Amino acid sequence: MSATRARSVQNEITISNPATGERVGSVAVATAADVKAAALRARRAQPAWERLGVRRRRRVLERFHDLLFERQDEIFDTIQRESGKTRREALGELLIVAGTARYYLAHGEEHLAEESHPGASPLITGARVGHRPYGLVGFITPWNYPFILSIGDALPALLAGNAVLVKPSELTPLSAELGRDLLATSGLDADLVQLVHGPGATVGAELVDHVDYLGFTGSTATGRKVAVAAAERLIPCSLELGGKNPMIVLAGAPLEEAVTGLVSGGFYNTGQTCIAVARVYVESRIFDRFAALARRRIEKLKVGWSLDWDMDVGSLVSREHAAKVMRHVEDAVGKGATVLTGGQRRSDLGEAFVAPTLLTDVDESMELCREETFGPVVALYPVRDADEAVARANDSTYGLNASVWTGSARTSRALARRIEAGSVGINSTLLIYSTFDVPMGGVKESGIGRRHGRQGILRFTQAQSIVDSIATGGGYEGVLANITSEARARSLAAAFKLMRRIPGLR
Ligand code: NDP
Repeated sequence: MSATRARSVQNEITISNPATGERVGSVAVATAADVKAAALRARRAQPAWERLGVRRRRRVLERFHDLLFERQDEIFDTIQRESGKTRREALGELLIVAGTARYYLAHGEEHLAEESHPGASPLITGARVGHRPYGLVGFITPWNYPFILSIGDALPALLAGNAVLVKPSELTPLSAELGRDLLATSGLDADLVQLVHGPGATVGAELVDHVDYLGFTGSTATGRKVAVAAAERLIPCSLELGGKNPMIVLAGAPLEEAVTGLVSGGFYNTGQTCIAVARVYVESRIFDRFAALARRRIEKLKVGWSLDWDMDVGSLVSREHAAKVMRHVEDAVGKGATVLTGGQRRSDLGEAFVAPTLLTDVDESMELCREETFGPVVALYPVRDADEAVARANDSTYGLNASVWTGSARTSRALARRIEAGSVGINSTLLIYSTFDVPMGGVKESGIGRRHGRQGILRFTQAQSIVDSIATGGGYEGVLANITSEARARSLAAAFKLMRRIPGLR
């Protein structure tokens, strides 16, 4: 779902603020030779970085974490100007990048530590598993969270001892540029973070040819293409893809709070969030009350763009993307959907604004029923009971995130376990992204692999097993070689049979 806004003139991409049309910067488009040279520079710098060891690598991350807060205004301005989002949402990006740094500063070393394991046989053998960096990790990232997805995701890869090569979205490369400068100011060898800019189909595709691991975040359609390219090279990849995330509200739920969940889950970042709420299944007997409450709250949202803290919902990332969102809305309305609120562009505010929209009477004939709209549009569906809600929530090719509101922790947890999604929030919608100790990612067509937690750093490493044996008498291999009679074979077999019954030897 590439939303064209950046204008590419010869070798340069001009970045403009989608809310105001103001030009905010430019970056040079990389050629194939530039991508290759960037990969080479990163590779040359990586071995010394790996040799430093995790403790000394941590120091860079510590300084980076604190620098984020010292330079926060500049970070907010940069994110806001290239994406059209509100200041609060720019703060949200900073908090997640800082939270990622904080989490891996506290736990990265233990996740990366060499582990001791039982050997093949007690007393004479042992085993250890180390986690070696891949070398050069590539990232291809979208425009919706330009600071988190380029720089935030690179932090665990760097801490694990890798160099990184990042291709941000053409629409929002400036936040990644600033992030790279902040890392260099924090003491990181600047060659370890290489950025290459330009269209995904050329520069992104070229990047895949030069890296040892690929972290892709973006649409399912593009994810499929890069997965094929990664498979051709036999390099591993993680794919963090789209979603059409369900929310379930049952009769016992606290309705005001559930509406708060809907408003933040559906309209935060103008709905341009992979884990955003898009479909809400509401038990029939509370449907009208819930719909009325939701409509009233959505109508109070202040839409617009400013560098102050006064806006609730900003612009979409581009005029083209706003048009795509409106096509979904108009298609639905043309086929019989009811607009509870919104449903139109806010051209009075700028070219890329769409009013926060709540729909009902949405059916299968409408594109937005199943496809990712990726804008400020939420559809409400009445359901008979919890079983119908779960069945409909699961009736999707996506499986990224879900939200459950029932009024009972026990019922909610039981319901959550039945939902086909990589994460489920109880009494919350976007909470998973700030819960750094647990893995986050999608099932079905929402992706492969996880960010955050132990998996979120070990994915940038390869396990290396080192097994050892005593040398005396030929060690472990000598055991079998020394079986030269029926009696010895029987003793060995008896010892092995016993092993299953002795704790510590199993
Ligand atoms: P796209 O898939 O269009 O683009 C993502 C990135 O891939 C961009 O940098 C793009 O470059 C690049 N790209 C495009 N074509 C190719 C190609 N053939 N080879 C290599 N790279 C390529 O996604 P959007 O930018 O439109 O982002 C929105 C999508 O991202 C949504 O579907 C959303 O759900 C998903 N997303 C998922 C998240 C998750 O964690 N699961 C988090 C955030 C977003 P360019 O566009 O510059 O040409």
